[in-house]
Amino acid sequence: AACREGGGAMAAGSERPGPAALAMLGTALGAPSCPHGPALLFVKTSQGKEEGRRFYACSACRDRKDCNFFQWEDEKVSETRLAAREEYNRNHQPSFTHRQNVDRYKNFVLLPLAKRRFCQECQQLLLPAEWEEHSDHQFLCDITTAQLKSPSQLLYPLENKKTNAQYLFADRSCQFLLNLLINLGFRRVLSVGTPRLHEMIQSKASQEEDFSVRSLLLDIDFRYSQFYTEDEFCHYNMFNHHFFGGEAARETCRKFLYEENGERVIMVTDPPFGGLVEALASSFKKLMAMWRETEKEGHDNKEMPMFWIFPYFFESRILDFFPSFSMMDYQVDYDNHALYKHGKTGRRQSPVRIFTNLTPSMIVLPEEEGYRFCTVCQRYVSSGNQHCEICNSCTSKDGRRWKHCVLCKKCVKPSWFHCSNCNCCTLQKHSCEKADLGCFVCGKAGHKRSACPSLSHT
Ligand code: SAH
Ligand code: ZN
Ligand code: ZN
Ligand code: ZN
Ligand code: ZN
Repeated sequence: AACREGGGAMAAGSERPGPAALAMLGTALGAPSCPHGPALLFVKTSQGKEEGRRFYACSACRDRKDCNFFQWEDEKVSETRLAAREEYNRNHQPSFTHRQNVDRYKNFVLLPLAKRRFCQECQQLLLPAEWEEHSDHQFLCDITTAQLKSPSQLLYPLENKKTNAQYLFADRSCQFLLNLLINLGFRRVLSVGTPRLHEMIQSKASQEEDFSVRSLLLDIDFRYSQFYTEDEFCHYNMFNHHFFGGEAARETCRKFLYEENGERVIMVTDPPFGGLVEALASSFKKLMAMWRETEKEGHDNKEMPMFWIFPYFFESRILDFFPSFSMMDYQVDYDNHALYKHGKTGRRQSPVRIFTNLTPSMIVLPEEEGYRFCTVCQRYVSSGNQHCEICNSCTSKDGRRWKHCVLCKKCVKPSWFHCSNCNCCTLQKHSCEKADLGCFVCGKAGHKRSACPSLSHT
């Protein structure tokens, strides 16, 4: 649903800044809200400098088709428009509350199999009285208890590229994560945007007698409220730390983080990769603070243990915000992502890794998948990751064997070569930065070596 409200504000004539170079300035007190909670403050930048007026935009949706909330920071908003906006926000909340969905579920499981329907168009469990309304929709019937325990299989993964692409863990990776955190001694998992991990924990807890791990899912995908109680799921926006369920939901989270009977908590998160790292980091710090505040003395200077699952090329961004984190070599695989799948042959390597504030040597990676322990680095590394004697570390980031460049004084990707023009290692096919010096091949200005006309003849 797109907000039509706000359009009037644009009549002034100024263009909305394009998405190119935007800096997120943060969550401001008194920020206006869209249906996704408080908006974030942005500014357009050019060469690292702020340029133009600051503005508020939706925290969760990068695509304006999903939410086109927009307001200049210094804009005066009339009472009438504020009231209209509030009403708009109210109207754009899900049609059932979480409470209602929990009650509906209770009624649903009492139905005989033949009466258990799931509307695929509305992504909703149907009670018999509602069949009529959905008569021309596609639906699944005979929904089993097993299906109700695996909502991530029943619901279709949201596919919006920019906003909310859901990439579900392959079973192998999900099982690995769960075993890892159990072996590390954790008994509680705050699952932030990891519905499949949550689901695996919930379903084991209901089936295996001696399984004592618990999970609380925080996710913006409200469809999950149909399958979990208020103690198991909170409708949450991880870009602005907004609990849609208000103080009650926040309290649920706080209670969950309180470590009773020595049950240690870990947070596991797998945010959309298009997300703003600074917004995510700011929310995660708030969740960490919530954890810290549950204990009067206990964890003064400690950080809540965390697994942040994200592509390796965000390493430096994540370390900017969380210097205590390190990146593990484990490649996280997904079911519905063609690129990040663990193929049987000619495996395409997933770029997705685990970032954690736990001691790297404790993160044991599966030897049967080729990971080995490097005694110098004191961590598990992938099979292709060779220890470089000069760098004195296992330097590969992408799982391939990297090579050391003496000129750059560091290891680089195997496909790179040292360009004496750029004075650094880079792809063979690249445009030299110092293009104004002229073409590397013919010396003439106006083009780079890759486009040199004297080469195209040979
Ligand atoms: N690999 C995970 C799913 C990761 S996909 C698993 O298998 O469990 C990203 C998840 O983040 C999705 O569940 C999506 O609904 C959720 N998400 C996307 N935007 C969000 C936001 N703004 N706040 C909270 N959760 C969000
Ligand atoms: Zn919004
Ligand atoms: Zn090493
Ligand atoms: Zn090296
Ligand atoms: Zn080099």
